[in-house]
Amino acid sequence: MTSIADNIQVVWRRIRDAEIQSGRPAGSAQLLAVSKAQPVDALRTATAAGQVRFGENYLQEALPKIAALRDIPGLEWHFIGPLQSNKTRAVAEQFDWVHSVDRLKIAERLAAQRPPHLPPLQVCLQVNLSHEDTKSGLDLNDALPLALQIAALPGLSLRGLMAIPSPEWTDEQLHAGYRQLRETQQAIAKHLHAFDTLSIGMSDDLEIAIAEGATIVRIGTALFGQRAYPAKEEST
Ligand SMILES: *Cc1c(COP(=O)(O)O)cnc(C)c1O
Repeated sequence: MTSIADNIQVVWRRIRDAEIQSGRPAGSAQLLAVSKAQPVDALRTATAAGQVRFGENYLQEALPKIAALRDIPGLEWHFIGPLQSNKTRAVAEQFDWVHSVDRLKIAERLAAQRPPHLPPLQVCLQVNLSHEDTKSGLDLNDALPLALQIAALPGLSLRGLMAIPSPEWTDEQLHAGYRQLRETQQAIAKHLHAFDTLSIGMSDDLEIAIAEGATIVRIGTALFGQRAYPAKEEST
């Protein structure tokens, strides 16, 4: 039996080793703990081990956890799941980041609904790299025009690109897909100075993602163990 605190140390080591391997500065890839399907106690244990960033996929599940952990200062909540119009208000009010914006209408709603007393909502565009119609995400070719439109909205800070790889991809395909994503991120960054984020890498491929420029890796299983329910994005 390994504990969450031990797992955090192991994942930190993996991230640090991958940074060194790729000649990147220590701390240039941040750890987002993906806590979907985990009970509040597991998140609390992770915070005691120093984890401050949490990623949640489902609003209904996330809101009670955010409320339950309000006594811990400095936590950062990232929404990483599919986002429908009727959920944008709660996301705009309760989260610090959204990784899964893939159309203008959602961004416009988040912008309008972000409470003015809060700092701008940090936003990434989700790209569909594998062209599976089951997955959300925009086409890589549409990223620049959409980014320019979204960057003009108030209440948001557009930060970069996010992608979920196909579970069938080989290491070579992961490298190639992530590299394409990074090239597009860098092209967009020429127009938008804060566009510095690449949200890629999960439990099984964080080393490849960091080699290809990940600035946020989203790790669930390697921190918390197997989930009690399968995530929608993962079931084919
Ligand atoms: C579940 C999930 C993760 C974490 O996946 P693991 O393989 O458990 O590390 C990362 N990103 C998204 C969008 C997810 O839904």
